[in-house]
Amino acid sequence: MELEDINTVAVLGAGNMGHGIAEVVAMAGYDVNMRDIKEEFVQNGYEQIEWSLNKLAENDQLSEEEADAALERVTPFVDMGEACGDADVVIEAVPEQMEIKKDVYTELEDVAPDRAIFATNTSSLSISELADVTERPGQFCGMHFFNPPVRMDLVEVISGAETDEETLEVIEALAEDVGKTPVRVHKDSPGFIVNRVLVPLMNEACWLVHEDEATIAAVDSTTKYGMGLPMGSFELGDQVGNDVSYHVLEYMHEVLGDAYEPCPLLEEKVENEELGKKTGKGFYDYEDGDGAQIPSDEQSELVERRLVASMANEVAKLIGNDVAPPESIDEATKLGAGFPDGPVKLVDEFGIEDALETLEEAYEETGHERYEPADYLEERAEEGGFYETDADEGATEFEAIRIEYPDEMVGHIVVDRPHRMNTISSQLLAELSEAIDLLEADDEVRSILLTGAGEKAFSAGADIQSMAAGGADPIEATELSKTGQTVFGKLEACEMPVVAGIDGYCLGGGMELSMCADLRIASERSEFGQPELDLGLIPGWGGTQRLPNIVGEGRAKEIILTADRFDAETMAEYGFVNEVVDNDELEDRALELAADLAGGPPIAHRYTKRAMLAGRDDTDAGLEYEASAFGQLMATDDLMEGITAFMGDDEPEFEGT
Ligand code: NAD
Repeated sequence: MELEDINTVAVLGAGNMGHGIAEVVAMAGYDVNMRDIKEEFVQNGYEQIEWSLNKLAENDQLSEEEADAALERVTPFVDMGEACGDADVVIEAVPEQMEIKKDVYTELEDVAPDRAIFATNTSSLSISELADVTERPGQFCGMHFFNPPVRMDLVEVISGAETDEETLEVIEALAEDVGKTPVRVHKDSPGFIVNRVLVPLMNEACWLVHEDEATIAAVDSTTKYGMGLPMGSFELGDQVGNDVSYHVLEYMHEVLGDAYEPCPLLEEKVENEELGKKTGKGFYDYEDGDGAQIPSDEQSELVERRLVASMANEVAKLIGNDVAPPESIDEATKLGAGFPDGPVKLVDEFGIEDALETLEEAYEETGHERYEPADYLEERAEEGGFYETDADEGATEFEAIRIEYPDEMVGHIVVDRPHRMNTISSQLLAELSEAIDLLEADDEVRSILLTGAGEKAFSAGADIQSMAAGGADPIEATELSKTGQTVFGKLEACEMPVVAGIDGYCLGGGMELSMCADLRIASERSEFGQPELDLGLIPGWGGTQRLPNIVGEGRAKEIILTADRFDAETMAEYGFVNEVVDNDELEDRALELAADLAGGPPIAHRYTKRAMLAGRDDTDAGLEYEASAFGQLMATDDLMEGITAFMGDDEPEFEGT
């Protein structure tokens, strides 16, 4: 089966996940048959879809017409045969109990067409065991959405023991087509990727408290403020539900052994029905207390070492057993758990040898199996990290950019395509991403300076030619926008100060790149602008979100909607440029500023940047919207008109089509 062959998707279960999955799939244009066991359950799910679609329309993430059309594509059913008789794909989201699910698949096998693929949304049960009750284990896989499906980007696509490659490819394509990011999990291993990282981490947090090594406050202070994870461990546990973590852990315990023994502290919480936010009380008290109030100043080195060591062991087991490679683990955990950096990278940055040593010491001290180092961890510790380093191949070769180290703890990234006005290509994005990683991992670097090579441009924008060549397809264009957003987002989230030294054109994507710097300094002759609307496009690399943050919405709209050019002085008045200098002083002054910042306090820099970023409104929703709008615009006639006029220096005539 190919993606094009999928027309009707049946979703079994209209609960929390089922209704959300049905909504997402219907929004992408598929006919959805949603089935639950009672009329009132399926009706309830349908009403939740209606409510959610209305919310999306209210927030302009969808037009009223699109919301109505999506709802119309969903048909509620109670009868299994009617729901699945003509389904191309069946996504199952019934309760997480092996027996219930097995019954469902037995019944399903009788009514579903032979061509249909079965995909289970199970969070922890064995895909292979479920597949075994059907007559199509090759056409059976895991399709693990995250809660809530409408907002969470990640879908883990899991191979059972007998799943065909073709099945995995179609389900990945389907996940992409409904706007999600699939990450392949090569083996049916408990917890797949994200829960396998999070749940043992939660368990380790409990053990630390249970064994009086640390307090809850110290653990959460360390996780949230020291390690920079989005929430404290206990805060996250309360949010997920202590019963959920406990059940996943019990299953890991059963399948993977005593390293996953649930900590008595967690067990106790479940017994006392202190399940977290949903019951009003968990590790924190949400009814009579203030909820999770986490101090920033109770961080503990021991807690950090143990938690990182625990993560190191889990990811080593995942990689070593070929469940997933480092890149997939990092991508999934960032998308599914909001980690700013993936756990594999986090361990590499912490030091894999230190992580191993921590495990060895703790294993010797306690004898508990959870501290027994995985073989693969020992293997990689000898190589110095999970990721291959370029150490033995010499310095990384860049083509579209250059990195210089002008002393004074500054890492200088030069956008190096002067012959093409330093325009931004896909290759440049990939290299920029790598350069940020490289500088962040370098202890000698404390600030980043970003400039453009030559005297014409900082960057004149996206490389339109290469984009239009590969970009008439809305999905590819949305992807390009998302890749740019991700790389730019990485620069913005970089924990050191970033200075943009702007000389010459700073337009479109180039201006959006400069928005990710903390300070902008420009030469007098510089020119700024967002010309995208003149091309019938919109700024697609964060401009609609970041520019208003810097200059206020009024000025941002002026800049974007007029698509005019603005000189450096005006941009300084608008608050975009921090300082304007003579043309021939730009380079020196920008370096001076970057060096000045590099001499500042790194930890305070990091916290300041994190806090300011965390305090913004829901930028993700904005970015998501921006990327899909960008993709849709790529398919319009107005774009061709805009590009043709731009190339020929004519006035475009937009038709609105
Ligand atoms: P839920 O209890 O909210 O919904 C399950 C629904 O399935 C209920 O409405 C129930 O009436 C219905 N159902 C029961 N038997 C059925 C049958 N034979 N046919 C059709 N429907 C039937 O549960 P949920 O949270 O939506 O979880 C569903 C699945 O998704 C589970 O496997 C769970 O592990 C997984 N999951 C849950 C989350 C989460 O955060 N809740 C996240 C990812 C995956």
